[in-house]
Amino acid sequence: MKLFFGGDRMVERQAKLYEGKAKILYATADPNIVISYFKDDATAFNAQKRGQIADKGVVNCKVATHLLQLLAAQGVKTHWLETPSDREMVVRAVNIIPLEVVVRNLAAGSLCKQTGLPLGTVLTPPLVEFYYKNDDLGDPLLTRDRIRAMNLADEAQIDELTRLAGKINTLLQTFFQRCQITLVDFKLEFGLDSAGQILLADEISPDTCRLWDQATSDQAERVLDKDRFRQDLGNVAEAYQEVLNRILAQVNLK
Ligand code: C5P
Repeated sequence: MKLFFGGDRMVERQAKLYEGKAKILYATADPNIVISYFKDDATAFNAQKRGQIADKGVVNCKVATHLLQLLAAQGVKTHWLETPSDREMVVRAVNIIPLEVVVRNLAAGSLCKQTGLPLGTVLTPPLVEFYYKNDDLGDPLLTRDRIRAMNLADEAQIDELTRLAGKINTLLQTFFQRCQITLVDFKLEFGLDSAGQILLADEISPDTCRLWDQATSDQAERVLDKDRFRQDLGNVAEAYQEVLNRILAQVNLK
């Protein structure tokens, strides 16, 4: 399939480079550009739970496009270049830093499980945590010293990732507030481009964020993210679509 990109430039999917749980990466003729294809597959608990969410790929591709564009407009360097079709994003090729950078504004998920903090505890200042992106090891929580010992990033890069995570959190929190959604927590991935510059990569979507609807305080009803799938809460596709609708309503206000 041929995709038009940047007006008259054309990119075309070539070899499959990598298939992850939610996306497939394809090479293009330009070694600096890859195509990210968003699937409907959903996994949770380190892929022990598997399923499909109808049209998730389409919705997440759109959500991620809007959020990455919003961040880019505020000076965050990202891998995003163009979204030429429903499920495909043209992005800069990066070497992914094997760290999952998690930002938490309210306690939920593994933080509650591991610390006993009650669900919804406000975290001031927000937590910025690093996990090792390694399925075989179960994505363990890292410390700064461990990141250094494992040679995953140097001091300056850890500082830069922490600063970027904080900035992105402020920008996303403000935007989601306008959507009447509480940004509880989220996961980021970063990569290095050929010049060694750190770029925000991967996606930001209901797969990678916890998002609570401010219109209700009901603990199940308010969930607009992958916890609906993880906890079998039902209406998963509808919740993802609701997030997209609220984002589009804000974007269309401009
Ligand atoms: O599971 P945990 O509470 O540590 O997740 C924190 C945040 O990071 C959640 O928004 C979750 O969706 C996201 N996350 C992710 N991919 C992972 C682990 C966590 O998107 N592999």
